[in-house]
Amino acid sequence: MEVRNKQRQKVKISCLPIALRRICKRVIPEPVIAALRSAKKAECTLAMKLLPRRMNYYCPCCGMRFHSFETASFLQSGMFNPVRYEKTNQRVFCPICRSMPRHRILALWCEEHKDYLQSSDILYFAPEKSMNLWLKRNHVACTTADLLSSADLKLDIQSTGLPDESFDVIIANHVLEHVDDFRAALKEAHRILRQNGCFICSFPMDPSIEWLDEEEEPLTAEERLQRFGQNDHKRVFGMKADRFLTEAGFDVEKIEGKDYPEEILPVVGPADYDMNILFCCRKHQTERTIADKEM
Ligand SMILES: [Zn+2]
Repeated sequence: MEVRNKQRQKVKISCLPIALRRICKRVIPEPVIAALRSAKKAECTLAMKLLPRRMNYYCPCCGMRFHSFETASFLQSGMFNPVRYEKTNQRVFCPICRSMPRHRILALWCEEHKDYLQSSDILYFAPEKSMNLWLKRNHVACTTADLLSSADLKLDIQSTGLPDESFDVIIANHVLEHVDDFRAALKEAHRILRQNGCFICSFPMDPSIEWLDEEEEPLTAEERLQRFGQNDHKRVFGMKADRFLTEAGFDVEKIEGKDYPEEILPVVGPADYDMNILFCCRKHQTERTIADKEM
Protein backbone atom coordinates (compact mmCIF):
# COMPACT_ATOMS: atom_id res chain seq x y z
CA MET A 1 0.00 0.00 0.00
CA GLU A 2 2.84 2.32 0.94
CA VAL A 3 4.53 1.61 -2.37
CA ARG A 4 1.28 2.36 -4.22
CA ASN A 5 0.86 5.65 -2.35
CA LYS A 6 4.42 6.63 -3.17
CA GLN A 7 3.79 5.79 -6.82
CA ARG A 8 0.59 7.87 -6.80
CA GLN A 9 2.47 10.79 -5.27
CA LYS A 10 5.20 10.49 -7.91
CA VAL A 11 2.62 10.41 -10.70
CA LYS A 12 0.79 13.43 -9.23
CA ILE A 13 3.98 15.48 -9.09
CA SER A 14 5.13 14.50 -12.58
CA CYS A 15 1.56 15.03 -13.89
CA LEU A 16 1.74 18.72 -13.14
CA PRO A 17 4.09 19.73 -15.99
CA ILE A 18 2.22 17.56 -18.52
CA ALA A 19 -1.15 19.00 -17.43
CA LEU A 20 0.27 22.51 -17.76
CA ARG A 21 1.72 21.63 -21.14
CA ARG A 22 -1.68 20.36 -22.35
CA ILE A 23 -3.45 23.50 -21.13
CA CYS A 24 -0.77 25.69 -22.76
CA LYS A 25 -1.17 23.80 -26.04
CA ARG A 26 -4.92 24.47 -26.01
CA VAL A 27 -4.69 28.11 -24.93
CA ILE A 28 -1.59 29.37 -26.71
CA PRO A 29 -1.90 29.85 -30.49
CA GLU A 30 0.32 27.65 -32.70
CA PRO A 31 2.42 30.63 -34.02
CA VAL A 32 3.31 31.52 -30.41
CA ILE A 33 4.34 27.90 -29.68
CA ALA A 34 6.46 27.92 -32.86
CA ALA A 35 8.05 31.19 -31.69
CA LEU A 36 8.81 29.64 -28.27
CA ARG A 37 10.45 26.65 -29.98
CA SER A 38 12.55 29.03 -32.09
CA ALA A 39 13.50 30.92 -28.92
CA LYS A 40 14.68 27.65 -27.31
CA LYS A 41 16.75 26.89 -30.40
CA ALA A 42 18.19 30.42 -30.35
CA GLU A 43 19.05 30.00 -26.66
CA CYS A 44 20.95 26.77 -27.44
CA THR A 45 22.70 28.41 -30.40
CA LEU A 46 23.82 31.32 -28.20
CA ALA A 47 24.94 28.94 -25.43
CA MET A 48 26.94 26.93 -28.00
CA LYS A 49 28.82 30.15 -28.85
CA LEU A 50 29.23 31.55 -25.32
CA LEU A 51 29.72 28.38 -23.30
CA PRO A 52 31.03 25.76 -25.75
CA ARG A 53 32.78 23.81 -22.98
CA ARG A 54 29.52 23.27 -21.11
CA MET A 55 27.73 21.92 -24.17
CA ASN A 56 28.71 18.30 -23.60
CA TYR A 57 25.83 16.69 -25.43
CA TYR A 58 24.97 16.63 -29.10
CA CYS A 59 21.92 15.72 -31.15
CA PRO A 60 22.86 14.73 -34.72
CA CYS A 61 19.18 14.88 -35.73
CA CYS A 62 18.82 18.65 -35.28
CA GLY A 63 22.56 19.40 -35.13
CA MET A 64 22.33 21.23 -31.78
CA ARG A 65 24.56 21.05 -28.68
CA PHE A 66 23.38 21.51 -25.10
CA HIS A 67 24.39 20.84 -21.51
CA SER A 68 21.88 18.06 -20.88
CA PHE A 69 19.12 16.01 -22.40
CA GLU A 70 15.60 16.30 -20.97
CA THR A 71 12.96 14.08 -19.42
CA ALA A 72 9.73 13.66 -21.37
CA SER A 73 6.39 13.45 -19.56
CA PHE A 74 4.46 10.94 -21.58
CA LEU A 75 3.87 8.06 -19.18
CA GLN A 76 0.59 9.46 -17.85
CA SER A 77 -1.09 8.91 -21.21
CA GLY A 78 -1.96 5.35 -20.11
CA MET A 79 -0.28 3.88 -23.20
CA PHE A 80 2.86 2.83 -21.37
CA ASN A 81 3.68 0.60 -18.42
CA PRO A 82 5.54 2.96 -16.00
CA VAL A 83 7.26 -0.01 -14.32
CA ARG A 84 9.29 -0.52 -17.51
CA TYR A 85 10.65 3.03 -17.16
CA GLU A 86 11.63 3.04 -13.49
CA LYS A 87 15.18 1.73 -13.68
CA THR A 88 16.40 3.45 -16.83
CA ASN A 89 17.66 6.95 -17.53
CA GLN A 90 14.72 9.20 -18.46
CA ARG A 91 16.81 12.26 -19.35
CA VAL A 92 17.29 11.05 -22.90
CA PHE A 93 15.18 13.44 -25.00
CA CYS A 94 16.69 16.20 -27.14
CA PRO A 95 15.38 19.56 -25.85
CA ILE A 96 15.02 20.83 -29.43
CA CYS A 97 13.70 17.98 -31.59
CA ARG A 98 12.72 15.40 -28.90
CA SER A 99 14.96 12.73 -30.47
CA MET A 100 15.62 9.59 -28.42
CA PRO A 101 18.90 7.62 -28.34
CA ARG A 102 17.81 5.26 -31.14
CA HIS A 103 17.13 8.21 -33.46
CA ARG A 104 20.53 9.75 -32.70
CA ILE A 105 22.31 6.42 -33.32
CA LEU A 106 20.49 6.10 -36.64
CA ALA A 107 21.30 9.73 -37.54
CA LEU A 108 25.02 9.13 -36.90
CA TRP A 109 24.89 5.91 -38.94
CA CYS A 110 23.20 7.89 -41.74
CA GLU A 111 25.93 10.55 -41.54
CA GLU A 112 28.54 7.83 -41.99
CA HIS A 113 26.64 6.58 -45.08
CA LYS A 114 25.44 9.94 -46.42
CA ASP A 115 26.83 9.53 -49.96
CA TYR A 116 25.19 6.11 -50.27
CA LEU A 117 21.87 7.45 -48.97
CA GLN A 118 21.93 10.53 -51.22
CA SER A 119 22.19 8.27 -54.28
CA SER A 120 19.63 5.68 -53.11
CA ASP A 121 15.88 5.25 -53.44
CA ILE A 122 14.70 5.19 -49.83
CA LEU A 123 11.37 4.02 -48.43
CA TYR A 124 10.86 5.15 -44.83
CA PHE A 125 8.03 3.55 -42.82
CA ALA A 126 6.57 5.70 -40.02
CA PRO A 127 9.33 8.35 -40.16
CA GLU A 128 10.09 10.07 -36.88
CA LYS A 129 10.05 13.89 -36.72
CA SER A 130 13.66 14.01 -35.52
CA MET A 131 14.83 11.82 -38.42
CA ASN A 132 12.83 13.95 -40.87
CA LEU A 133 14.93 16.86 -39.61
CA TRP A 134 18.17 14.97 -40.29
CA LEU A 135 17.02 13.97 -43.79
CA LYS A 136 16.06 17.55 -44.61
CA ARG A 137 19.28 19.05 -43.21
CA ASN A 138 21.37 16.58 -45.20
CA HIS A 139 19.42 16.77 -48.46
CA VAL A 140 18.53 13.08 -48.41
CA ALA A 141 15.27 12.45 -50.24
CA CYS A 142 12.97 9.59 -49.28
CA THR A 143 9.49 8.25 -49.90
CA THR A 144 7.56 8.08 -46.66
CA ALA A 145 4.98 5.38 -45.90
CA ASP A 146 2.45 4.91 -43.16
CA LEU A 147 -0.85 3.10 -42.73
CA LEU A 148 -2.43 5.49 -40.24
CA SER A 149 -0.57 8.84 -40.35
CA SER A 150 -0.07 11.12 -43.32
CA ALA A 151 2.76 10.05 -45.64
CA ASP A 152 3.64 9.90 -49.34
CA LEU A 153 2.24 6.36 -49.57
CA LYS A 154 -0.45 4.69 -47.48
CA LEU A 155 1.11 1.25 -47.06
CA ASP A 156 0.88 -1.83 -44.89
CA ILE A 157 4.43 -3.12 -44.47
CA GLN A 158 3.08 -6.69 -44.43
CA SER A 159 1.68 -6.34 -47.95
CA THR A 160 2.68 -3.16 -49.79
CA GLY A 161 1.55 -4.01 -53.31
CA LEU A 162 4.79 -2.44 -54.61
CA PRO A 163 6.74 -4.14 -57.42
CA ASP A 164 9.67 -6.45 -56.57
CA GLU A 165 13.01 -4.73 -55.96
CA SER A 166 11.64 -1.16 -55.85
CA PHE A 167 13.99 0.43 -53.29
CA ASP A 168 17.67 0.47 -52.31
CA VAL A 169 17.03 1.28 -48.65
CA ILE A 170 14.02 0.61 -46.42
CA ILE A 171 13.85 2.02 -42.90
CA ALA A 172 11.33 0.81 -40.31
CA ASN A 173 12.11 1.71 -36.70
CA HIS A 174 9.83 0.31 -34.02
CA VAL A 175 7.29 -0.93 -36.56
CA LEU A 176 7.62 -4.72 -36.32
CA GLU A 177 6.18 -4.87 -32.78
CA HIS A 178 2.95 -3.22 -34.02
CA VAL A 179 2.02 -5.43 -36.99
CA ASP A 180 -0.01 -8.65 -36.86
CA ASP A 181 2.61 -10.78 -38.61
CA PHE A 182 6.18 -9.51 -38.35
CA ARG A 183 7.51 -12.43 -40.43
CA ALA A 184 5.23 -11.33 -43.31
CA ALA A 185 6.59 -7.77 -42.91
CA LEU A 186 10.20 -9.03 -43.11
CA LYS A 187 9.38 -11.15 -46.17
CA GLU A 188 7.73 -8.13 -47.83
CA ALA A 189 10.67 -5.83 -47.03
CA HIS A 190 13.00 -8.44 -48.55
CA ARG A 191 10.83 -8.69 -51.67
CA ILE A 192 10.65 -4.96 -52.42
CA LEU A 193 14.33 -4.36 -51.66
CA ARG A 194 16.81 -4.33 -54.53
CA GLN A 195 19.71 -6.78 -54.61
CA ASN A 196 22.40 -5.69 -52.15
CA GLY A 197 19.94 -3.18 -50.69
CA CYS A 198 19.65 -2.47 -46.99
CA PHE A 199 16.69 -2.83 -44.63
CA ILE A 200 17.33 -0.83 -41.46
CA CYS A 201 15.15 -1.69 -38.51
CA SER A 202 14.93 -1.62 -34.75
CA PHE A 203 12.39 -2.91 -32.25
CA PRO A 204 11.90 -3.32 -28.50
CA MET A 205 14.30 -5.96 -27.15
CA ASP A 206 13.76 -7.33 -23.66
CA PRO A 207 17.11 -8.40 -22.12
CA SER A 208 15.34 -11.14 -20.14
CA ILE A 209 14.00 -12.80 -23.32
CA GLU A 210 16.01 -14.93 -25.70
CA TRP A 211 13.95 -14.95 -28.92
CA LEU A 212 10.44 -13.53 -28.73
CA ASP A 213 7.39 -13.08 -26.52
CA GLU A 214 4.07 -12.92 -28.35
CA GLU A 215 0.62 -14.47 -28.15
CA GLU A 216 -1.30 -16.15 -30.95
CA GLU A 217 -4.66 -15.21 -29.43
CA PRO A 218 -5.54 -11.48 -29.53
CA LEU A 219 -4.87 -9.69 -26.22
CA THR A 220 -6.68 -6.71 -24.75
CA ALA A 221 -4.92 -3.33 -24.65
CA GLU A 222 -4.42 -3.71 -20.88
CA GLU A 223 -2.93 -7.20 -21.32
CA ARG A 224 -0.55 -5.90 -24.00
CA LEU A 225 0.47 -3.00 -21.76
CA GLN A 226 1.26 -5.35 -18.87
CA ARG A 227 3.03 -7.97 -20.95
CA PHE A 228 4.82 -5.96 -23.64
CA GLY A 229 5.08 -2.53 -21.95
CA GLN A 230 2.89 -0.57 -24.37
CA ASN A 231 -0.79 -1.04 -25.14
CA ASP A 232 -0.36 -1.15 -28.93
CA HIS A 233 2.61 -3.55 -28.95
CA LYS A 234 1.79 -7.06 -30.13
CA ARG A 235 5.11 -8.59 -29.07
CA VAL A 236 8.50 -7.90 -27.58
CA PHE A 237 11.66 -9.34 -29.09
CA GLY A 238 14.54 -11.03 -27.30
CA MET A 239 18.27 -10.44 -27.47
CA LYS A 240 18.74 -13.09 -30.17
CA ALA A 241 15.99 -11.70 -32.41
CA ASP A 242 18.47 -11.12 -35.23
CA ARG A 243 17.75 -14.79 -36.01
CA PHE A 244 14.36 -13.74 -37.48
CA LEU A 245 16.11 -11.28 -39.80
CA THR A 246 18.57 -13.95 -40.95
CA GLU A 247 15.69 -16.38 -41.50
CA ALA A 248 14.03 -13.80 -43.77
CA GLY A 249 17.11 -13.99 -46.01
CA PHE A 250 19.16 -11.00 -44.84
CA ASP A 251 22.84 -10.67 -43.93
CA VAL A 252 22.58 -8.91 -40.60
CA GLU A 253 24.89 -6.27 -39.13
CA LYS A 254 24.24 -5.02 -35.58
CA ILE A 255 24.59 -1.28 -34.97
CA GLU A 256 24.89 -0.87 -31.21
CA GLY A 257 24.56 2.32 -29.18
CA LYS A 258 27.54 1.33 -27.04
CA ASP A 259 29.81 1.83 -30.08
CA TYR A 260 28.71 5.46 -30.42
CA PRO A 261 30.06 8.49 -28.53
CA GLU A 262 28.78 9.42 -25.09
CA GLU A 263 27.84 12.91 -26.33
CA ILE A 264 24.72 11.49 -28.02
CA LEU A 265 23.87 9.58 -24.82
CA PRO A 266 23.44 6.12 -26.32
CA VAL A 267 22.07 4.59 -23.12
CA VAL A 268 19.44 1.91 -22.62
CA GLY A 269 16.15 3.76 -22.32
CA PRO A 270 13.77 5.39 -21.87
CA ALA A 271 12.10 1.94 -21.42
CA ASP A 272 14.07 -1.08 -20.20
CA TYR A 273 13.40 -2.77 -23.56
CA ASP A 274 14.80 0.18 -25.55
CA MET A 275 18.21 -1.45 -26.04
CA ASN A 276 19.04 1.04 -28.79
CA ILE A 277 20.34 -1.58 -31.18
CA LEU A 278 19.69 -1.09 -34.89
CA PHE A 279 20.00 -3.79 -37.52
CA CYS A 280 21.32 -3.17 -41.00
CA CYS A 281 19.98 -6.10 -43.04
CA ARG A 282 21.52 -6.61 -46.49
CA LYS A 283 19.69 -8.48 -49.19
CA HIS A 284 21.97 -11.09 -50.75
CA GLN A 285 23.12 -10.37 -54.24
CA THR A 286 21.99 -13.47 -56.14
CA GLU A 287 24.33 -15.33 -58.48
CA ARG A 288 21.98 -14.48 -61.36
CA THR A 289 22.27 -10.75 -60.68
CA ILE A 290 26.06 -10.94 -60.48
CA ALA A 291 26.15 -12.86 -63.80
CA ASP A 292 23.78 -10.28 -65.41
CA LYS A 293 26.10 -7.44 -64.34
CA GLU A 294 29.18 -9.23 -65.69
CA MET A 295 27.64 -9.75 -69.14
ZN1 LIG B 1 17.68 17.19 -31.59
